[in-house]
Amino acid sequence: MKKLLSILIPLFVFIGCEDDIEEATLAASPIEITYNIHESLPSDWVTEFNIIMKNLWTIIPSYENVFDHINIYAWNDKVEDPYPGINGGAYVGGPPSDKIMVLEIPENEFIYQSMHRYSVVAHEYFHVYQLSINKPMNLPNGNYDPDGFSIKWLLEGTAASFESIYIQEYYNHNYFINAQNNINEMVHTDPSIFESYINNEINYGSSVFITLALAKELIKLGHSEKIAFRMIYKDFLTSGVKNSNWQNHFADVFGISVKDFYYSLKAYTLDINSVLPSKSLSIKAIFN
Ligand SMILES: [Zn+2]
Repeated sequence: MKKLLSILIPLFVFIGCEDDIEEATLAASPIEITYNIHESLPSDWVTEFNIIMKNLWTIIPSYENVFDHINIYAWNDKVEDPYPGINGGAYVGGPPSDKIMVLEIPENEFIYQSMHRYSVVAHEYFHVYQLSINKPMNLPNGNYDPDGFSIKWLLEGTAASFESIYIQEYYNHNYFINAQNNINEMVHTDPSIFESYINNEINYGSSVFITLALAKELIKLGHSEKIAFRMIYKDFLTSGVKNSNWQNHFADVFGISVKDFYYSLKAYTLDINSVLPSKSLSIKAIFN
């Protein structure tokens, strides 16, 4: 009997937790941002960067749920990494006590006027927004946080599609077709491989495709396009999702199981044109 109880109690606790899908309580104060914008950057980029950050901050401010402050470092890659201890690249990282957003912009992007010099700002800021709600699973010290959330296509497919919707809306340029149309066959055969942070795609093209297909499936279920994107970009994130419970939260928020959704991907031609959102979709409408 004692043995049976010791089996039953953990089972009960486990089942009890599994159904616990409650909206996370979110903080009320916005985070503080410190800007470190290097003189190596062209002044017209700096002007545009300020406009983009102002737009994003107005529409999706980040609140003090996980960290209360972030340092943004930006520079032109023609100079040596100018901020001691800050590695180059484009990423959001660091522990909650020392959160950083890094934008090392390749000189070629200024020379060839690549849209990426602006889209990267929207992409990385979207990660700040995500990380202000959910902690990452992988910690900077190499450990894992069991309460973290790191399903790749749901973090990168969202950030990368967000950046393209931003570019479409503010620059009237289709960044989806120009940069994110490299879709792996595995989207049809085993989309679960895009759940892990492994390097198996170009510009997150497959993750973007899966994310946009999810919006199409939600529209089929009767949601408007802007609501579909709001569910993916915001409602799912703020549902208290963790890696350990993400499939339950997915079914709860979207009304479709992960398994059924993955199966539905087979019906889509692996071309970004088959899942593109409408050109009139705006970030403001999504988050309003
Ligand atoms: Zn990213």
